[in-house]
Amino acid sequence: MDFSSDTSAPAHPRVMEALARVNAGHQSSYGNDAVTAELRGLLARTLEIEDFDFWLCASGTASNALALSCFCPPTGAILCHAEAHIARDERGAPEFFSGGGKLQLLGGDGAQIEETELRDALARIDHGFVHETPAHVLSLTNLTESGTAYPAARIAHYAALAKEAGLTVHLDGARIANALVSMGASLADMSWRAGTDVLCLGLTKTGAMGCEIIVLFGEARTKFNELKARAKRSGHMPPKMRYLAAQAIALLTDGLWLDLARNANQRAQEVANLLCRRPGTELVHPVHGNEVFVRLDDETAGRLRDAGAVFYTWLDGSSRLVTSWQTGADTIDQLASVLD
Ligand SMILES: *Cc1c(COP(=O)(O)O)cnc(C)c1O
Repeated sequence: MDFSSDTSAPAHPRVMEALARVNAGHQSSYGNDAVTAELRGLLARTLEIEDFDFWLCASGTASNALALSCFCPPTGAILCHAEAHIARDERGAPEFFSGGGKLQLLGGDGAQIEETELRDALARIDHGFVHETPAHVLSLTNLTESGTAYPAARIAHYAALAKEAGLTVHLDGARIANALVSMGASLADMSWRAGTDVLCLGLTKTGAMGCEIIVLFGEARTKFNELKARAKRSGHMPPKMRYLAAQAIALLTDGLWLDLARNANQRAQEVANLLCRRPGTELVHPVHGNEVFVRLDDETAGRLRDAGAVFYTWLDGSSRLVTSWQTGADTIDQLASVLD
C-alpha cells in the first residue's frame, strides 16, 4: 500500500518495451532522430494542432524553469498560486533560470487562484513604475498541487484576463492527464484553445520513466531557439533524445496515458470513499484526480501505519495519499480490510 507518490511507481511496461524497441542502430542526436520526428506527428494529433514546437526534458522542474525563463525577464515576475510547485518545491529553479525573476504568490482554495486576487495583481502591473516588479507570466497548474482540477473554461477565462494585461500563460501539467480525465476535457481544450502559450506536459507521473514535454504554441514559438539555447546551457539537452521520445510515443499512442490516469483517478476515489467512512476522517480538498488530502483521526492513521501503508504528512498536518497507474483493486481491498 504505497501511496507516497506517483513518482514512486514504476514505469509502465509499454514504456519499457518502447525503449527496448528504439534501442537499435545509430540515430542522430539532440532531437534530430527519427523517433523524435515520429513523436512530432503524434503530438500534433494529440494536440489537434500543427502550430507548435516542443522540447523534451527528464524532469518537471527543468521543464517549468526552462519554459518560464523564456518569458520572464530577470526584472519581471511570474504570477502563481502560493502552493504552486514552482513556488514550494523547486528550490528557486524558476528564479535561477530566469536570472532573478520573482514569483508573485496568489491565494485561493484548493490551490486554485481566486479570480479577485488575479484581477488585483493584473491591475497593479505598471511597467513604468521602477520600484515594483511587473508580472510577465501567469503560471497555472492542472491538476493543482491540492489535487483539484481547473475546468478548461476557467483556464480560458484566466488566460484571457492575463493576455489582456500582456502576460504569457504557462500551464504546469505535471499531472495534466489526471485533470483531463477528471474534467472530461481534451488536451487542446485545456491548453492552446484555452489560451495557454507554453505547456509543460508531464508524463513521468502518468507512467513514463522520465519524460516531460515543453510545448510552445503560436506566438510563443518565437522563443523556441531561446528555449533550446537555455536547455543546452543548463545541461537539459539530452543527447540521446530518442529514448525520451520513445516514452512519450508509448504513452500517447491509443490514449494509453489517459487510460492510466483514469485508473489512478478511480483508485483515488475509492481510497477517499474508504477513508471517509471512518468517523473523524474528512477530506481537506475535493478529490478530482489521483491525490487524496485527508485529515485522519489518530486511530485510522495508526492502523494505516501499522499495516505498512506509506503516505506523507502534508505541511498543514493533513495526510496525502497518491494513487498511480499501478494502483490496483488488490491495493484497495487491502486498504478496506485494514480499515474494517
Ligand atoms: C511533480 C511536479 C512537478 C515536477 O517535479 P519533478 O520532480 O521535477 O519532475 C512540477 N509541477 C507539479 C505540479 C508537480 O506535481
